[in-house]
Amino acid sequence: MLVQELEKFGVEKKYVERLEKEGIKKFYPPQEKALKKGLLEGKNLVLAVPTAAGKTLVATLAMIKSLEKGKKAIYVVPLISLANEKYEYYTKFFKERKVAISVGDFDSADPWLERYDVIVVTVEKLDSLIRHGAPWLCQTGLVVFDEVHLLNDPSRGPTLEILITKMRTMLKRAQFLFLSATIKNAEELAEWLDAILIKSDFRPTKLYEGIAYDSKIWLPEMGEIKLREDLSLEEAIAFEILKRRKQAIFFVATRRNAESLALKLASLTRKHLGRNERELLKKLGDEIENVLEIPTSQCKKEGRCVRGGVAFHHAGLLGAQKRMIEKAFKRGWLKFIVATPTLAYGVNLPAFAVIIRDARRYYPGIGSKYIPVLEYMQMVGRAGRPAYDEYGISMLTAKTEDEARVLFDRFIMGEMEEISSKLAIEPVLRMHVLALIATNFCNSERSIFSFFSKTFFAHQWGDISMIEEKVLEVIDLLREWGFLEKKRLVATDLGKRVCQLYLDPLSAHIFIEALRTSKKINDFGILHLISSVNEMKPLPSVRLGELGRIEEEIAKREEDFLIEIPEEWDLEFEDFLKSVKMAGVFEDWINEASEERILESYNITPGELRGRIEIADWLLYSLHEIALLLGMKNFLKDVRKLRVRVQKGVKEELLPLVRLRGVGRVRARKLFEAGIRRVSDLKKVPVETLAKIIGPKTAENLKEQVERKKKKDVQKTLWSGAAGI
Ligand code: ADP
Repeated sequence: MLVQELEKFGVEKKYVERLEKEGIKKFYPPQEKALKKGLLEGKNLVLAVPTAAGKTLVATLAMIKSLEKGKKAIYVVPLISLANEKYEYYTKFFKERKVAISVGDFDSADPWLERYDVIVVTVEKLDSLIRHGAPWLCQTGLVVFDEVHLLNDPSRGPTLEILITKMRTMLKRAQFLFLSATIKNAEELAEWLDAILIKSDFRPTKLYEGIAYDSKIWLPEMGEIKLREDLSLEEAIAFEILKRRKQAIFFVATRRNAESLALKLASLTRKHLGRNERELLKKLGDEIENVLEIPTSQCKKEGRCVRGGVAFHHAGLLGAQKRMIEKAFKRGWLKFIVATPTLAYGVNLPAFAVIIRDARRYYPGIGSKYIPVLEYMQMVGRAGRPAYDEYGISMLTAKTEDEARVLFDRFIMGEMEEISSKLAIEPVLRMHVLALIATNFCNSERSIFSFFSKTFFAHQWGDISMIEEKVLEVIDLLREWGFLEKKRLVATDLGKRVCQLYLDPLSAHIFIEALRTSKKINDFGILHLISSVNEMKPLPSVRLGELGRIEEEIAKREEDFLIEIPEEWDLEFEDFLKSVKMAGVFEDWINEASEERILESYNITPGELRGRIEIADWLLYSLHEIALLLGMKNFLKDVRKLRVRVQKGVKEELLPLVRLRGVGRVRARKLFEAGIRRVSDLKKVPVETLAKIIGPKTAENLKEQVERKKKKDVQKTLWSGAAGI
């Protein structure tokens, strides 16, 4: 079916033209099937198709229809990186419409979204919008859930499952689209969702799957590709790809592996770059290396790799670096990306070849295990760029022939796993039971059970007695902690606030107990308190060499802790050690230890540090809000101050300076040391002097800011003068 034929379905010509301009002339089979099964008539669909089979277009078509009816469309994704990608795409595609992205700040109803037609959100954000009773939600005509196979994920699945159940209960007349990878029990999923199933193995480019070992790539459907014998297997594969002027993604198990393989491949690739490419990559490498005020050793390493035409990609990178790398790969500048598996779930980043170097991974508490076939499929799904390649190739690497055979049977011939509900996990139930009551979704035990009877868990097991039991226990706890009224199933003011803050009720309870019982509260105590709750987990592990230092710290600061110190033989002691380590990271950060030193001495990455700072920011905000509600006024100022210090990583004396745009912890310290300690000092110093301290560009920028501030101040005084008359 041709895209032109869309006009017959009443789709405006401009949209047809836009699709054609993107190179979409003819629908892929699953897309055509979706159209025939009532996509444009508002039918609910589950699309279980491989990566790159064009799910987004199906969503886009439904959006066009929904917008025509004057309704909003919500697009729900599991990751911020995906939200950014969809937002960028839809801002361009629906250029005369208003497209919004809403991913951060869990304590807001975002009333501004009322004015928008297309809203891209993450799962947690949409859940928090419901908790705040965002009034515009009822104007929604279409909800798209992307990557619904993540229902299977123990950490993210339960919230997604609750959210889908809530949205379907709230918006009975809206259309729902569920986009998923191909999963074995897609029928079961579609039955639960009361939706028409479109299941397909279609791929826009042919994929040849195989195994690489013993200096060859064995692709059963294509034949053998001989590799150089004088290189390691990975290098020989890379050489073959360079020879064909193509690109590849290598998947490895750990960050360290990603970095070391990227370095190795970069020294090989460098020799194959043309002069222009070298210049381009040098610029890019310098840019990536210098995204922070002072580059860390990881930044330098990435810079070195990128200058050689290769990048490593893992959760330890900074967001800006990841975006630059993805863009450069799409443009063909970078030849290889060596990634940890998170990239498989991330943005649309196709390559000619995908190489899975580590098919086994270490799972905490379980040990080393093969990755699920579902994950393998997500990875190899990236192989083949429809616009450039006629086909794509993927391979697992093996050391021996026996291993090659095992991998072949398991992954290439193997069956995908079923997905199953992970809802019966207590912290999740705690959070969501409180939310159901606090938002008046449910007002009796019966209505809570009835809600859970609509979940995927109930659909799969047919019996929710296990959940019912846990729900009753959770209700008792929530009452004991003061989040529910004693007699009625109604949330107290405190319970409502905890729900809005998107906190695990247990964390809120720990905060409240600490505030109530501690006589003396200091910064370290607070930093440790926020490091010890579930939201901060998984915590960085404690290495043997660190143990002594941490135990010393515990003994020395016994008085500072706001929660009880467990005994060494208690089960919680290990987590306690980790939380002390985490608090140490934050303390060093706000005392201006250099980022490099923190990363090195605690063995963490820049991306991890940023991620932790964001969580700490949210927890400190929540702690402040709870203290406010409990009337603990004397405590508020300290938490507010600490929150800014954690955001900026500075001592108190630098706070006036870091409020200025373009002034981070390093520049602020330089200014301070030069005697410039507040905004009024900045106004007095000539721009040339300033330039010598922080560079000419920032100096000018700062001057402009303070001058503008001055003007505003003048205006303010004029107005207040007028008011005085
Ligand atoms: P998925 O979400 O299924 O992984 P996407 O929707 O991101 O896949 O589509 C992958 C790529 O295929 C996009 O670049 C998209 O523009 C392109 N594409 C989608 N449908 C078609 C089509 N019918 N013809 C040509 N290209 C298409």
